[in-house]
Amino acid sequence: MIYLDNAATTKPCPEAVQAALEAMTDNFGNPSSLHRAGLNAQLAMDKARKSIADSLGAAPDNLIFTSGATESNNLALRGISAAYGKRRRRIVASAVEHASVDETLSDLENKGFEVVRVSPRGDGRFYAEDFLAACNDDTVLLTMMYVNNETGYILPVKEVFTAIKRCYKDIITHTDCVQAYMKLPVKINQLGADLISLSGHKIHGVKGVGALYIRKGVRVLPVVTGGKQETGIRSGTESVPLICAFGAAVEKLSPTVNERYERVTSLKTRLLELLFAIDGVDVNSPADGSPYVVNISAAGKRSEIMLNYLESREIYVSSGSACSKGQQSGVLGQFGIAGKRADSALRISMTSETTEAEIEEFASALREGIANVRG
Ligand code: PMP
Repeated sequence: MIYLDNAATTKPCPEAVQAALEAMTDNFGNPSSLHRAGLNAQLAMDKARKSIADSLGAAPDNLIFTSGATESNNLALRGISAAYGKRRRRIVASAVEHASVDETLSDLENKGFEVVRVSPRGDGRFYAEDFLAACNDDTVLLTMMYVNNETGYILPVKEVFTAIKRCYKDIITHTDCVQAYMKLPVKINQLGADLISLSGHKIHGVKGVGALYIRKGVRVLPVVTGGKQETGIRSGTESVPLICAFGAAVEKLSPTVNERYERVTSLKTRLLELLFAIDGVDVNSPADGSPYVVNISAAGKRSEIMLNYLESREIYVSSGSACSKGQQSGVLGQFGIAGKRADSALRISMTSETTEAEIEEFASALREGIANVRG
Protein backbone atom coordinates (compact mmCIF):
# COMPACT_ATOMS: atom_id res chain seq x y z
CA MET A 1 0.00 0.00 0.00
CA ILE A 2 1.06 3.57 -0.64
CA TYR A 3 -0.06 5.68 2.30
CA LEU A 4 -0.25 9.37 1.45
CA ASP A 5 -2.70 10.45 4.14
CA ASN A 6 -0.27 11.39 6.89
CA ALA A 7 -2.14 14.58 7.78
CA ALA A 8 -5.03 12.34 8.87
CA THR A 9 -2.83 10.06 10.90
CA THR A 10 0.63 8.53 10.81
CA LYS A 11 1.91 5.03 11.40
CA PRO A 12 3.25 4.76 14.95
CA CYS A 13 7.04 4.43 14.94
CA PRO A 14 8.56 1.30 16.54
CA GLU A 15 9.92 3.40 19.42
CA ALA A 16 6.40 4.65 20.22
CA VAL A 17 4.94 1.16 20.06
CA GLN A 18 7.68 -0.17 22.34
CA ALA A 19 7.19 2.65 24.86
CA ALA A 20 3.42 2.06 24.94
CA LEU A 21 3.94 -1.68 25.34
CA GLU A 22 6.27 -1.19 28.29
CA ALA A 23 3.71 1.04 29.98
CA MET A 24 1.05 -1.63 29.46
CA THR A 25 3.13 -4.54 30.70
CA ASP A 26 6.01 -3.88 33.12
CA ASN A 27 5.05 -0.35 34.05
CA PHE A 28 1.26 -0.34 34.31
CA GLY A 29 0.83 1.51 37.61
CA ASN A 30 -1.39 4.54 38.17
CA PRO A 31 0.86 7.62 38.30
CA SER A 32 -1.22 9.02 41.16
CA SER A 33 -0.62 5.95 43.37
CA LEU A 34 1.81 6.49 46.20
CA HIS A 35 3.58 3.12 45.98
CA ARG A 36 6.53 2.15 43.81
CA ALA A 37 4.41 0.96 40.86
CA GLY A 38 2.73 4.35 40.81
CA LEU A 39 6.03 6.17 41.11
CA ASN A 40 7.51 4.24 38.18
CA ALA A 41 4.55 5.16 35.98
CA GLN A 42 4.92 8.77 37.13
CA LEU A 43 8.62 8.73 36.22
CA ALA A 44 7.90 7.38 32.73
CA MET A 45 5.29 10.08 32.23
CA ASP A 46 7.68 12.76 33.55
CA LYS A 47 10.25 11.69 31.00
CA ALA A 48 7.75 12.04 28.15
CA ARG A 49 6.57 15.41 29.47
CA LYS A 50 10.16 16.66 29.63
CA SER A 51 10.96 15.50 26.08
CA ILE A 52 7.90 17.24 24.65
CA ALA A 53 8.42 20.39 26.74
CA ASP A 54 12.12 20.51 25.73
CA SER A 55 11.16 20.32 22.07
CA LEU A 56 9.04 23.46 22.53
CA GLY A 57 11.61 25.24 24.70
CA ALA A 58 9.09 25.09 27.56
CA ALA A 59 9.18 23.95 31.19
CA PRO A 60 7.63 20.50 31.78
CA ASP A 61 5.10 21.81 34.28
CA ASN A 62 3.59 24.04 31.61
CA LEU A 63 2.45 21.02 29.60
CA ILE A 64 -0.94 19.37 30.19
CA PHE A 65 -1.70 15.97 28.67
CA THR A 66 -5.09 15.51 27.01
CA SER A 67 -6.84 12.90 24.87
CA GLY A 68 -5.77 14.64 21.65
CA ALA A 69 -5.68 17.99 19.95
CA THR A 70 -9.46 18.17 19.76
CA GLU A 71 -9.53 18.21 23.53
CA SER A 72 -6.51 20.55 23.73
CA ASN A 73 -8.30 23.03 21.46
CA ASN A 74 -11.53 22.74 23.46
CA LEU A 75 -9.64 23.20 26.72
CA ALA A 76 -7.76 26.23 25.40
CA LEU A 77 -10.81 28.03 24.03
CA ARG A 78 -13.30 27.09 26.73
CA GLY A 79 -10.79 27.33 29.58
CA ILE A 80 -9.62 30.82 28.60
CA SER A 81 -13.17 32.06 27.93
CA ALA A 82 -14.23 30.83 31.34
CA ALA A 83 -11.23 32.35 33.11
CA TYR A 84 -11.09 35.76 31.42
CA GLY A 85 -14.34 36.11 29.49
CA LYS A 86 -16.58 37.78 32.06
CA ARG A 87 -15.84 41.29 30.83
CA ARG A 88 -13.94 40.76 27.59
CA ARG A 89 -16.32 39.03 25.18
CA ARG A 90 -14.64 39.03 21.77
CA ILE A 91 -12.65 36.14 20.31
CA VAL A 92 -10.70 36.57 17.08
CA ALA A 93 -9.80 33.57 14.94
CA SER A 94 -8.64 32.69 11.46
CA ALA A 95 -11.45 31.53 9.20
CA VAL A 96 -9.58 28.35 8.24
CA GLU A 97 -9.39 26.60 11.61
CA HIS A 98 -9.90 22.88 12.13
CA ALA A 99 -13.41 21.85 13.20
CA SER A 100 -12.22 21.30 16.78
CA VAL A 101 -11.57 25.04 16.99
CA ASP A 102 -14.29 26.26 14.67
CA GLU A 103 -17.14 24.27 16.23
CA THR A 104 -15.99 25.28 19.70
CA LEU A 105 -16.05 28.90 18.59
CA SER A 106 -19.61 28.46 17.31
CA ASP A 107 -20.60 27.05 20.68
CA LEU A 108 -18.99 29.98 22.49
CA GLU A 109 -20.80 32.29 20.07
CA ASN A 110 -24.09 30.67 21.12
CA LYS A 111 -23.08 31.32 24.71
CA GLY A 112 -22.79 35.06 24.03
CA PHE A 113 -19.21 35.58 22.88
CA GLU A 114 -18.65 37.66 19.78
CA VAL A 115 -16.46 35.67 17.39
CA VAL A 116 -14.68 37.48 14.57
CA ARG A 117 -13.27 35.17 11.89
CA VAL A 118 -10.51 36.68 9.75
CA SER A 119 -10.32 35.44 6.15
CA PRO A 120 -7.38 35.38 3.79
CA ARG A 121 -7.37 38.21 1.24
CA GLY A 122 -8.06 37.72 -2.48
CA ASP A 123 -4.45 36.57 -2.98
CA GLY A 124 -5.12 33.67 -0.61
CA ARG A 125 -2.85 35.07 2.11
CA PHE A 126 -3.37 36.25 5.68
CA TYR A 127 -2.16 39.68 6.79
CA ALA A 128 -1.28 40.77 10.33
CA GLU A 129 -3.12 44.08 9.78
CA ASP A 130 -6.40 42.20 9.32
CA PHE A 131 -6.05 40.44 12.66
CA LEU A 132 -5.03 43.68 14.30
CA ALA A 133 -8.10 45.41 12.86
CA ALA A 134 -10.33 42.61 14.21
CA CYS A 135 -9.00 42.95 17.77
CA ASN A 136 -10.14 45.58 20.25
CA ASP A 137 -10.01 46.21 24.01
CA ASP A 138 -12.91 43.80 24.42
CA THR A 139 -10.91 40.89 22.95
CA VAL A 140 -10.03 38.04 25.28
CA LEU A 141 -8.47 35.50 22.91
CA LEU A 142 -6.85 35.23 19.51
CA THR A 143 -6.58 31.77 17.97
CA MET A 144 -4.89 30.85 14.72
CA MET A 145 -3.45 27.56 13.51
CA TYR A 146 0.15 27.36 12.34
CA VAL A 147 -0.20 25.03 9.34
CA ASN A 148 -3.55 24.50 7.69
CA ASN A 149 -4.42 20.81 7.56
CA GLU A 150 -6.18 20.95 4.18
CA THR A 151 -3.76 23.02 2.12
CA GLY A 152 -0.48 23.15 4.05
CA TYR A 153 -0.71 26.97 4.08
CA ILE A 154 1.61 28.36 6.78
CA LEU A 155 -0.15 31.12 8.70
CA PRO A 156 1.95 34.09 9.88
CA VAL A 157 1.48 33.20 13.54
CA LYS A 158 4.62 34.83 14.88
CA GLU A 159 4.04 38.07 13.00
CA VAL A 160 0.38 38.28 14.04
CA PHE A 161 0.98 37.40 17.70
CA THR A 162 3.83 39.90 17.95
CA ALA A 163 1.72 42.66 16.42
CA ILE A 164 -1.23 41.88 18.68
CA LYS A 165 0.83 41.70 21.88
CA ARG A 166 2.38 45.06 21.05
CA CYS A 167 -1.04 46.72 20.99
CA TYR A 168 -3.08 44.52 23.34
CA LYS A 169 -0.90 42.84 25.93
CA ASP A 170 -3.86 41.21 27.69
CA ILE A 171 -5.12 39.23 24.69
CA ILE A 172 -4.31 35.54 25.16
CA THR A 173 -2.85 33.88 22.06
CA HIS A 174 -3.48 30.26 21.10
CA THR A 175 -2.17 28.28 18.15
CA ASP A 176 -3.13 24.82 16.94
CA CYS A 177 0.24 23.40 15.91
CA VAL A 178 -0.95 19.90 15.04
CA GLN A 179 0.23 19.99 11.41
CA ALA A 180 3.37 21.97 12.18
CA TYR A 181 4.79 20.14 15.18
CA MET A 182 7.83 17.99 14.40
CA LYS A 183 7.64 19.23 10.80
CA LEU A 184 8.55 22.91 11.24
CA PRO A 185 10.34 24.31 14.27
CA VAL A 186 7.66 24.98 16.92
CA LYS A 187 9.18 27.00 19.77
CA ILE A 188 7.23 28.97 22.33
CA ASN A 189 9.46 32.01 22.31
CA GLN A 190 9.67 32.18 18.59
CA LEU A 191 5.88 31.97 18.13
CA GLY A 192 4.98 34.22 21.04
CA ALA A 193 2.06 31.94 21.87
CA ASP A 194 0.45 31.64 25.30
CA LEU A 195 -1.15 28.31 24.43
CA ILE A 196 -0.16 25.59 21.94
CA SER A 197 -2.15 22.47 20.99
CA LEU A 198 -0.39 19.27 19.92
CA SER A 199 -1.47 15.78 18.90
CA GLY A 200 0.41 12.49 19.29
CA HIS A 201 -0.90 10.51 16.35
CA LYS A 202 0.14 13.05 13.69
CA ILE A 203 3.80 12.60 14.59
CA HIS A 204 4.09 8.79 14.62
CA GLY A 205 2.78 8.45 18.17
CA VAL A 206 -0.51 6.74 19.00
CA LYS A 207 -4.10 8.01 18.68
CA GLY A 208 -5.84 9.33 21.77
CA VAL A 209 -3.21 11.59 23.29
CA GLY A 210 -2.38 15.24 22.90
CA ALA A 211 -0.98 18.11 24.90
CA LEU A 212 -1.69 21.72 25.67
CA TYR A 213 1.18 24.05 26.48
CA ILE A 214 0.06 26.83 28.83
CA ARG A 215 2.41 29.74 29.44
CA LYS A 216 3.19 30.25 33.14
CA GLY A 217 0.78 32.72 34.68
CA VAL A 218 -2.03 32.12 32.15
CA ARG A 219 -5.15 30.78 33.84
CA VAL A 220 -7.12 28.02 32.09
CA LEU A 221 -10.22 26.80 33.91
CA PRO A 222 -10.77 23.03 33.61
CA VAL A 223 -13.37 21.53 31.32
CA VAL A 224 -13.09 18.06 32.89
CA THR A 225 -13.13 18.07 36.69
CA GLY A 226 -12.43 15.25 39.13
CA GLY A 227 -9.25 13.88 40.70
CA LYS A 228 -7.13 16.96 39.92
CA GLN A 229 -4.56 15.23 37.75
CA GLU A 230 -2.50 17.46 35.46
CA THR A 231 -2.34 20.21 38.10
CA GLY A 232 -6.12 20.21 38.29
CA ILE A 233 -6.54 21.49 34.74
CA ARG A 234 -7.42 18.11 33.25
CA SER A 235 -8.70 15.50 35.66
CA GLY A 236 -8.68 11.80 34.85
CA THR A 237 -6.01 9.12 35.14
CA GLU A 238 -3.42 9.90 32.50
CA SER A 239 -3.03 7.47 29.61
CA VAL A 240 0.53 6.54 30.49
CA PRO A 241 1.03 4.18 27.51
CA LEU A 242 -0.08 6.79 24.97
CA ILE A 243 1.86 9.55 26.71
CA CYS A 244 5.04 7.42 26.71
CA ALA A 245 4.51 6.69 23.00
CA PHE A 246 4.08 10.43 22.35
CA GLY A 247 7.32 11.15 24.23
CA ALA A 248 9.23 8.42 22.39
CA ALA A 249 8.08 9.75 19.00
CA VAL A 250 9.19 13.27 19.94
CA GLU A 251 12.58 12.01 21.20
CA LYS A 252 13.06 10.30 17.86
CA LEU A 253 11.88 13.13 15.59
CA SER A 254 12.97 16.23 17.47
CA PRO A 255 16.65 16.21 16.40
CA THR A 256 15.77 15.90 12.68
CA VAL A 257 13.03 18.50 12.10
CA ASN A 258 15.09 20.52 9.60
CA GLU A 259 16.63 17.53 7.88
CA ARG A 260 13.21 15.93 7.33
CA TYR A 261 11.77 19.24 6.13
CA GLU A 262 14.46 19.35 3.43
CA ARG A 263 13.76 15.78 2.43
CA VAL A 264 10.00 16.28 2.19
CA THR A 265 10.59 19.54 0.29
CA SER A 266 12.41 17.60 -2.41
CA LEU A 267 9.59 15.04 -2.48
CA LYS A 268 7.11 17.88 -2.95
CA THR A 269 9.22 19.33 -5.77
CA ARG A 270 9.21 15.96 -7.50
CA LEU A 271 5.48 15.54 -6.94
CA LEU A 272 4.70 18.96 -8.42
CA GLU A 273 6.92 18.27 -11.42
CA LEU A 274 4.90 15.11 -12.12
CA LEU A 275 1.55 16.80 -11.46
CA PHE A 276 2.24 19.75 -13.76
CA ALA A 277 2.73 17.24 -16.55
CA ILE A 278 -0.83 15.90 -16.14
CA ASP A 279 -3.53 17.72 -18.10
CA GLY A 280 -6.20 19.39 -16.00
CA VAL A 281 -4.52 19.05 -12.60
CA ASP A 282 -4.50 22.23 -10.52
CA VAL A 283 -2.38 22.70 -7.41
CA ASN A 284 -4.32 24.34 -4.57
CA SER A 285 -1.46 24.57 -2.08
CA PRO A 286 0.81 27.61 -2.05
CA ALA A 287 4.37 27.16 -3.27
CA ASP A 288 5.67 28.27 0.14
CA GLY A 289 3.31 26.03 2.11
CA SER A 290 4.35 23.11 4.30
CA PRO A 291 5.82 20.48 1.98
CA TYR A 292 4.05 17.79 4.01
CA VAL A 293 0.61 18.66 2.57
CA VAL A 294 -0.18 19.12 -1.11
CA ASN A 295 -3.75 19.84 -2.15
CA ILE A 296 -4.67 19.41 -5.80
CA SER A 297 -7.77 19.32 -7.97
CA ALA A 298 -8.03 16.40 -10.36
CA ALA A 299 -9.44 17.70 -13.63
CA GLY A 300 -13.00 18.08 -12.40
CA LYS A 301 -13.28 14.41 -11.32
CA ARG A 302 -15.20 14.20 -8.07
CA SER A 303 -12.92 13.57 -5.09
CA GLU A 304 -14.76 10.46 -3.84
CA ILE A 305 -14.56 8.84 -7.27
CA MET A 306 -10.83 9.48 -7.59
CA LEU A 307 -10.35 8.39 -4.00
CA ASN A 308 -12.02 5.06 -4.79
CA TYR A 309 -10.02 4.63 -7.98
CA LEU A 310 -6.76 5.27 -6.14
CA GLU A 311 -7.85 2.96 -3.35
CA SER A 312 -8.38 0.18 -5.90
CA ARG A 313 -4.66 0.64 -6.64
CA GLU A 314 -3.90 0.55 -2.91
CA ILE A 315 -3.03 4.23 -2.80
CA TYR A 316 -4.53 6.19 0.07
CA VAL A 317 -5.10 9.94 -0.03
CA SER A 318 -7.82 12.21 1.38
CA SER A 319 -10.53 14.14 -0.35
CA GLY A 320 -9.10 17.62 -0.15
CA SER A 321 -12.10 19.51 1.16
CA ALA A 322 -13.26 17.06 3.80
CA CYS A 323 -12.92 17.75 7.48
CA SER A 324 -14.58 14.56 8.56
CA LYS A 325 -16.36 11.72 6.81
CA GLY A 326 -16.66 13.57 3.53
CA GLN A 327 -18.37 16.70 4.83
CA GLN A 328 -17.06 19.87 3.19
CA SER A 329 -15.42 22.19 5.68
CA GLY A 330 -15.47 25.41 3.66
CA VAL A 331 -11.75 25.95 4.22
CA LEU A 332 -10.86 25.59 0.54
CA GLY A 333 -13.51 28.21 -0.27
CA GLN A 334 -11.73 30.57 2.12
CA PHE A 335 -8.61 30.10 0.02
CA GLY A 336 -10.57 30.91 -3.15
CA ILE A 337 -11.02 27.32 -4.30
CA ALA A 338 -14.66 26.68 -5.04
CA GLY A 339 -17.15 24.85 -7.28
CA LYS A 340 -15.86 21.96 -9.36
CA ARG A 341 -12.31 22.66 -8.31
CA ALA A 342 -13.22 22.16 -4.64
CA ASP A 343 -15.37 19.11 -5.45
CA SER A 344 -12.41 17.46 -7.16
CA ALA A 345 -9.84 18.31 -4.50
CA LEU A 346 -7.46 15.67 -3.19
CA ARG A 347 -5.02 16.01 -0.32
CA ILE A 348 -1.71 14.19 -0.55
CA SER A 349 0.13 14.26 2.74
CA MET A 350 3.61 12.87 3.10
CA THR A 351 6.05 11.87 5.78
CA SER A 352 9.82 11.77 5.62
CA GLU A 353 9.53 8.02 5.04
CA THR A 354 7.60 8.57 1.80
CA THR A 355 9.70 7.50 -1.18
CA GLU A 356 10.10 9.01 -4.62
CA ALA A 357 8.94 5.70 -6.12
CA GLU A 358 5.67 6.02 -4.19
CA ILE A 359 5.19 9.56 -5.46
CA GLU A 360 5.81 8.38 -9.02
CA GLU A 361 3.35 5.54 -8.67
CA PHE A 362 0.74 7.90 -7.26
CA ALA A 363 1.22 10.32 -10.18
CA SER A 364 0.87 7.61 -12.77
CA ALA A 365 -2.25 6.20 -11.06
CA LEU A 366 -3.70 9.73 -10.95
CA ARG A 367 -3.04 10.22 -14.65
CA GLU A 368 -4.75 6.91 -15.45
CA GLY A 369 -7.62 7.69 -13.10
CA ILE A 370 -8.26 11.03 -14.78
CA ALA A 371 -8.27 9.32 -18.18
CA ASN A 372 -10.49 6.42 -17.10
CA VAL A 373 -13.01 7.39 -14.44
CA ARG A 374 -16.22 9.20 -15.21
CA GLY A 375 -17.36 11.92 -13.07
N1 PMP B 1 -6.17 20.36 14.54
C1 PMP B 1 -5.71 20.06 13.32
C2 PMP B 1 -5.09 21.13 12.47
C3 PMP B 1 -5.79 18.74 12.84
O1 PMP B 1 -5.34 18.45 11.63
C4 PMP B 1 -6.39 17.76 13.69
C5 PMP B 1 -6.54 16.33 13.20
N2 PMP B 1 -7.33 16.19 12.05
C6 PMP B 1 -6.85 18.13 14.96
C7 PMP B 1 -6.72 19.44 15.35
C8 PMP B 1 -7.48 17.14 15.90
O2 PMP B 1 -6.50 16.30 16.44
P1 PMP B 1 -6.88 14.96 17.22
O3 PMP B 1 -7.16 13.93 16.17
O4 PMP B 1 -5.66 14.64 18.04
O5 PMP B 1 -8.06 15.25 18.07
